[in-house]
Amino acid sequence: MTKFRTLDDLGDVTGKVALVRVDLNLPMQDGAVTDDTRIRAALPTINELADKGAKVLLLAHFGRPKGARNSEQSLSMVVGAVSTVLGREVMFCPEIAGPVVAQTVGILRPGDVAILENTRFWPGEEKNDPELAKAIAANGDFYVNDAFSAAHRAHATTEGLAHLLPAYAGRSMQAELEALEKALGNPERPVAAVVGGAKVSSKLDVLTHLVSQVDHLIIGGGMANTFLAAKGVDVGKSLCEHELAGTVTEILAAADKSGCTVHLPYDVVVSKEFTANPPSLRTCNVHEVAADEMILDIGPAATEALADVLKTCRTLVWNGPLGAFELPPFDKATVALAKTAAALTREGSLISVAGGGDTVSALNHAAVAGDFSYVSTAGGAFLEWMEGRELPGVAVLELA
Ligand code: ADP
Ligand code: MG
Repeated sequence: MTKFRTLDDLGDVTGKVALVRVDLNLPMQDGAVTDDTRIRAALPTINELADKGAKVLLLAHFGRPKGARNSEQSLSMVVGAVSTVLGREVMFCPEIAGPVVAQTVGILRPGDVAILENTRFWPGEEKNDPELAKAIAANGDFYVNDAFSAAHRAHATTEGLAHLLPAYAGRSMQAELEALEKALGNPERPVAAVVGGAKVSSKLDVLTHLVSQVDHLIIGGGMANTFLAAKGVDVGKSLCEHELAGTVTEILAAADKSGCTVHLPYDVVVSKEFTANPPSLRTCNVHEVAADEMILDIGPAATEALADVLKTCRTLVWNGPLGAFELPPFDKATVALAKTAAALTREGSLISVAGGGDTVSALNHAAVAGDFSYVSTAGGAFLEWMEGRELPGVAVLELA
């Protein structure tokens, strides 16, 4: 396991200034925060530092302001919501560096928390400008990164700062790194990966990396159609990237070479309409899809066979739903397999890690997210990690 400093390695921080990178890119509607999941994720780190007597300065981006200040994307909007979740007063500082931040630090008492302005208002943030990083670092004593979701970007506050101050992984970052390590870094075998979702093209690098890492690769969702078509199956009107047949054949060959079993469905749920509960709904063998039908879920026999595969595995990593789960009954296979994974995890026979925007929604829909060992809400960073890439915000925290 790669080593990185955590909050356990902090000495006495009373009165010291902590620059803490968090994820406050919150879903908002009409000026109100509609989902406070990301604030709650940062809570353990902020509370721990504040309780230890540090002065906590929160750094975060919001949206894509492209290096210029604008009133619609000021982080002042989230101060109320953060304060409510923390149960503490939170100050706001309209700068991220310079004398105004120094003044804020002067006003804060040990244990106080302030949010600095949207880091992306400064062009140096996304350029990872060392001058900007230096100016930010000048007001802090140490740096904590608790935003795994931004760790795939080498920006001034996700990467640059870690070179200039003693750097630590926050509790949320630590939990994510430990879960990912267990799932793919150094997993208990056999390992299964479920890869579903709409398109092969959006997850080519994920598939290519996984075949060399896992024992079972379970393909579902729209991408299963592309795999089936590449094997000569007529998938009718299904979402399918026929032009990727060659690529899919290469992935299958690579899997074969590294001893990874690829599981494709042999029965499917089809319909002529892309709607909920369509009148033309039926289940059939993959070889029986009519020219005017779409595959919208994998079938019950395939789902049962996949459950049996999971029962033989010790580790599962899951990205992408198995069907068009937003439309019932095309959520069936996803919900059933998620419940199997949840039950195996509860029994202690499986370590289950899942991530991806729609995957998290699907697991919530199946009401099992809480039963998985770890569910990542990191989106892009999670996928890049599934691709086997080194994330710059993580790499810089690693100890040689
Ligand atoms: P994630 O956000 O978890 O990475 P994706 O964005 O790759 O997942 O894919 C999710 C989308 O894939 C969902 O909107 C779902 O409806 C769609 N999908 C899954 N299976 C099919 C299918 N057979 N046909 C069309 N769309 C599908
Ligand atoms: Mg998605």
